Amino acid sequence: MEASLTARDRVGIQDFVLLDNYTSESAFLDNLRKRSHENLIYTYIGTLLVSVNPYKELDIYSKKQMDTYMGVNFFELPPHIYALADNVFRTMQSEYNNHFILISGESGAGKTEASKKILQFYAVSCPSTKLLNNVRDRLLLSNPVLEAFGNAKTLKNDNSSRFGKYMDIQFDHQGGAVGGHILSYLLEKSRVVHQNHGERNFHIFYQLVEGGEEDLLRWLGLERNCQHYRYLVQVKKNLLTQTIYSCLLQGDCAKVSSINDKSDWKMVRKALSVIEFSESDIENLFAIIASVLHLGNVKFEADVRGYASLNNNQEMHWVLSPFSVDHAVYARDALAKAIYGRTFNWLVNKINESLANKDSSRKTVIGLLDIYGFEVFNVNSFEQFCINYCNEKLQQLFIQLTLKSEQEEYEMEGIEWEPVPYFNNKIICDLVEEKHRGIIALLDEECLRPGEATDLTLLEKMEEEIGGHPHFVTHKLADKKTRKTLERGDFRLLHYAGEVTYCVVGFLDKNNDLLYRNGKEVISFNFYCKKQVVTQFKSSLVGLTEILMSKEPWYVRCIKPNEAKQPGRFDDVLVRHQVKYLGLMEHLRVRRAGFAYRRKYDIFLQRYKPLCPDTWPNWRGTAAEGVQRLIKHLGYKPDEYKMGRTKIFIRHPRTLFATEDAFQIC
Ligand code: ADP
Ligand code: MG
Repeated sequence: MEASLTARDRVGIQDFVLLDNYTSESAFLDNLRKRSHENLIYTYIGTLLVSVNPYKELDIYSKKQMDTYMGVNFFELPPHIYALADNVFRTMQSEYNNHFILISGESGAGKTEASKKILQFYAVSCPSTKLLNNVRDRLLLSNPVLEAFGNAKTLKNDNSSRFGKYMDIQFDHQGGAVGGHILSYLLEKSRVVHQNHGERNFHIFYQLVEGGEEDLLRWLGLERNCQHYRYLVQVKKNLLTQTIYSCLLQGDCAKVSSINDKSDWKMVRKALSVIEFSESDIENLFAIIASVLHLGNVKFEADVRGYASLNNNQEMHWVLSPFSVDHAVYARDALAKAIYGRTFNWLVNKINESLANKDSSRKTVIGLLDIYGFEVFNVNSFEQFCINYCNEKLQQLFIQLTLKSEQEEYEMEGIEWEPVPYFNNKIICDLVEEKHRGIIALLDEECLRPGEATDLTLLEKMEEEIGGHPHFVTHKLADKKTRKTLERGDFRLLHYAGEVTYCVVGFLDKNNDLLYRNGKEVISFNFYCKKQVVTQFKSSLVGLTEILMSKEPWYVRCIKPNEAKQPGRFDDVLVRHQVKYLGLMEHLRVRRAGFAYRRKYDIFLQRYKPLCPDTWPNWRGTAAEGVQRLIKHLGYKPDEYKMGRTKIFIRHPRTLFATEDAFQIC
């Protein structure tokens, strides 16, 4: 007894549901801290997995570990991402339905790593044939390619995903991974032409310049020196309306200690071949990437009439256009962003072609959602606005699927229940997306008044329309104390995850995402009927929500233990904040008071009726009565279950596991 107490003291408990003092946030934090100091980064809240970023390699992801977790009941082994992956897989196999795993947490918390571990588990552990090995390799290798083109070093994370990713993994009847499909969301294109100090452009540029073969670089006219390319390092003045707001050094950190561009280059080259990009596809791809670098080096100066003219002819030989220098620079950058954005979409399509399963028989899928996390920088712009809006939507989905629907179900089923209060972030989602008067609507409206509207008129419009909203504040609207913390061009949103101050400069431009006519012709863009960026994003999120709502949800909540990306440091204030806004305490309360499993009476009876002579082979009464008879025979204790109107509710998973084990034996 004493020994087990000590062990429990040291390593904490592995499922928060078993925490004695389960309403105490401090007890929750203590448990998490204890475990992460012991390198036990995973803890459950029922079937939800909480993961704390260890910021160091742990020896827990070997093939041996995968085998250990394969096919073992969820709660029988220490918590692990493999246990969750396995549980989802087996539920899919036995119920023959579709699932998704929502991985959330702020930037740098470990979402992408978690999604990679899950994919690896499926690729390595699921039944496979020689034919399927191909698919498996492609599924695995799609990751380094997408990361090279879609990830970058930010201040929060050296390998930050700058696009949202939803990936379906398709399984056949035998449980073999037979295909996949990727949806990508809103790539942060502005990074191609500008990065904040201490950040980088997308990895692929550095990989190409550092790792590209001599012949290739010569063919592309590139020098092996990142410093040579303005989009990789440059000094740039950032203008806030008329005042010089700050003079930011762009990027300027080509080398990052945690990143090896040369070896990553090799990996990406290999991956492209495995995914069946032809040699000419690959050549074209890198020619385009190189062209973006060259484009960035095109310089302009004003001629006698004030028009821009090219002042070096190395990158381009002629251009005639009555633009001012500022306009010309703008047009150049817009073109570079458009080229990169379209290349990225092309890449995703190519990968999808290669992952597509041609066999038309019915498949089940497990979806993995790894989307950019909530983000707060010193200066936050349109990109952070979109990213944080997306996180609001996902939090809303989580609330709907867990807290709200769970409680509504108890009510509907007539199960006695003390409601758990929770913060519903719908109010913030509405503030952003409400028809006609939400921020998105106002932004789009201003974008339709070219020549008249500016970022500042947008700000004024927002002040007029939503000035009274409790989650919105600006310099003008703020009280004296808050005003000191806001610039005139700022607006602040009180997100579910905390306050974020956005600088309105650039919102209209980035939302319009305009290309000048010449630019469009260069890349033969279809530029009519184009929707504004944020509206496109909004509708793609609606589409995503629909995809997710049609599947059974599972959750991984990732926590960032410190801002310094260091192992062994657990910052209480930072973690407490995340525990709060991720809604973990509420989730625990609902889980604790609630029931881990529920099944419709007829489904439950159909499966387990062989376990009781009264119900086997045919039960003539109602399904509910049959279930009652069955569980009496199995010896369920009264506090282990409740009978609802249409379903049986089982408190602990282990009760169901015991029944399932008995069923397997019989
Ligand atoms: P996110 O996608 O949430 O922004 P990442 O998954 O990219 O964050 O994680 C950021 C970094 O943290 C990774 O590059 C890695 O160094 C470290 N990390 C995250 N999860 C783990 C893990 N399970 N084991 C070891 N290191 C991890
Ligand atoms: Mg990520």
